[in-house]
Amino acid sequence: MGEGIFKQKNGLLAVDVVGSCGVLTPEQLAGLARLAEKAGAIAFKLTSRQTLVALLPEGRAEGFIEGLATLGLRVSPYGNVVRAVKACPGNEDFCPRALGDALGLGMALQERYLGREVPKDFKIAVAGCPRGCVDPYCADFGVIAAGKDVFDVAVGGMGGSSRPRHGVVIARRIGREKVFALLEHVLARFGELAQPREKLGRAIERLGVEPFLPPAPTLAPEEEDGSLAEFARFLKEHD
Ligand code: SF4
Repeated sequence: MGEGIFKQKNGLLAVDVVGSCGVLTPEQLAGLARLAEKAGAIAFKLTSRQTLVALLPEGRAEGFIEGLATLGLRVSPYGNVVRAVKACPGNEDFCPRALGDALGLGMALQERYLGREVPKDFKIAVAGCPRGCVDPYCADFGVIAAGKDVFDVAVGGMGGSSRPRHGVVIARRIGREKVFALLEHVLARFGELAQPREKLGRAIERLGVEPFLPPAPTLAPEEEDGSLAEFARFLKEHD
């Protein structure tokens, strides 16, 4: 597994710091600022994966990197692994449109899967409603809340590609535990079926999506709870 530490053309070192789906406490922010000042950092850059890149002079990064663990942060794993999970602010605290706790689910998925080895980099995005502010159809595994504790799942999306593709929806209105079971299954099949360095989306283009599907019970939807109708009403009132 690689680490997100990259030498830049200007000689500086870029260190990619991952927290919990982009959520940082004031203590973590203050601690990061202290570490960065001590290491002579030039700047931070927020990334599209909700991580923070610190630009540091080479030779002064060691203390910065060691200090991350004391703040509950780490250098982001890179290469052919499950990458930092991108989750929208969808929960009761951050976004009034959220149908389900996307942020909590994203954090839990990251906690369990970040850094797991795969044939080619694997990106997860979790959105709290069909607006999809984190582009779930552009992720290898995209989750979209469809109600309280129920989610749709699309697989094989490829946003960052010269030949982009949208993910294919393989599950509708499944419960949170089934999202974990589905991801576990898709990762296992990806490991078995993909060629070396083949993206999940390309493997699906080559083989079809069926070989990646789990047994039917994992895909069985939960009961309707009326959240989508509520969401449609909300959109009508606020658009
Ligand atoms: S996807 Fe929905 S819940 Fe998430 S930030 Fe966008 S509008 Fe809010």
